[in-house]
Amino acid sequence: MVELNNSAVFSWGSEYMMPTYSRLPVVFLKGSMQYLWDIENNKYIDYIAGYGCLNVGHSNKYIVKAVKRQVEKLIQPSNVYYNLPQVELAEKLCKLTGFGSKVFFANSGSESIEGAIKLARKYSTDKYGNERYGVITFERSFHGRTMGALSATAQPKKQRAFEPLLEGFKYAEFNNIDSVRELIDKNTCAIMLEPVQGEGGVYPAEKGFIKDLKEICIKNDILLILDEVQTGFGRTGKMFAYENYNIVPDILVVAKSLGGGMPIGAIISTSDISKTFTPGVHGSTFGGNAASCAAGLAVIDYILNNELSRKAKELGNYFISRLARLEKKYSVISEVRGTGLMVGLEFSEPVAARLVSEALEDGLVINKVSDHVLRFLPPLVIKKGHLDKLIKWLDLKIKDI
Ligand code: PLP
Repeated sequence: MVELNNSAVFSWGSEYMMPTYSRLPVVFLKGSMQYLWDIENNKYIDYIAGYGCLNVGHSNKYIVKAVKRQVEKLIQPSNVYYNLPQVELAEKLCKLTGFGSKVFFANSGSESIEGAIKLARKYSTDKYGNERYGVITFERSFHGRTMGALSATAQPKKQRAFEPLLEGFKYAEFNNIDSVRELIDKNTCAIMLEPVQGEGGVYPAEKGFIKDLKEICIKNDILLILDEVQTGFGRTGKMFAYENYNIVPDILVVAKSLGGGMPIGAIISTSDISKTFTPGVHGSTFGGNAASCAAGLAVIDYILNNELSRKAKELGNYFISRLARLEKKYSVISEVRGTGLMVGLEFSEPVAARLVSEALEDGLVINKVSDHVLRFLPPLVIKKGHLDKLIKWLDLKIKDI
């Protein structure tokens, strides 16, 4: 065992872990709601919430209690049997979404996306024949790192090293309905998008665009898959971002914050589509394990009981308006974008990495999605004062750029 300080554990990790992430030189030991503490007991305010996994905050006591109660009883009975939290959570997700009447549980966003692609293909090929497997996704999208999800992710930089990708994906321009129309053919089975593109730079879909997509899907019996892995569970001011658009998807994919920090993902769909997932066509050993589902139930209760969606909307509007003031003040800020507490700040110069490291030194955990864009996904339990603190910090720093 090495000495327990930030730099010693950082070198220890670099020695034994694959270098897949550009890790920052801080090791977190403890979290509570919007706060984190590192191994040297320095305190931080978190504005990224485990990449959007912790809408309810770090180690939220209500969730921890529910998980503890469940792991002491039963963790993983296997999916040839139902377990109680799993069934209860499935019912809750169906009732919350309104359109959904069946759920499949997985362990992560990527795994759920894989399942959603399979479900759309199965529904369409059963109905129209083997050629109907095409999926349209969007430039700048992010759907995950596994081979199917990566094939759907229209970012050549992330795909290049892993070709050949899965066949059947075409990429349209986000918020451009004509570019979608041009790509549709007799083999298209689904259109998949994030209502607000997250990893791609925080770009919300326009209302008219989503409405047109829905119409095209209905007209052609193409399935609309919404990837709400990042936007779900109150983040954009509604329980699910599609509620901002007055439409429902055919397949909804959720993950991240559903688990309050525990690994879980889910595909929610109608009974007509879901009935094509017959025994043996899809599965997941750990998917829907009792511990993660108990966390999911507690997360949904906590979000509803504490009105986190409404808070995300109010705080998000406030935060965006304060960032807009900075945009007016500093020409290096080129755009402020977002919905609810999912916010991007774009710079005309590549200053994002520098700001992320300097913020960390000052006890603020922020995130960049590119050299030019900072992304903020704070826990929805954050307070106005924490947002003011960040605005003040950004104001001071940007002044010197
Ligand atoms: N879809 C979206 C919109 C995401 O933001 C992510 C992860 O950031 C994923 C899918 C993949 O989820 P996971 O990392 O849990 O596999």
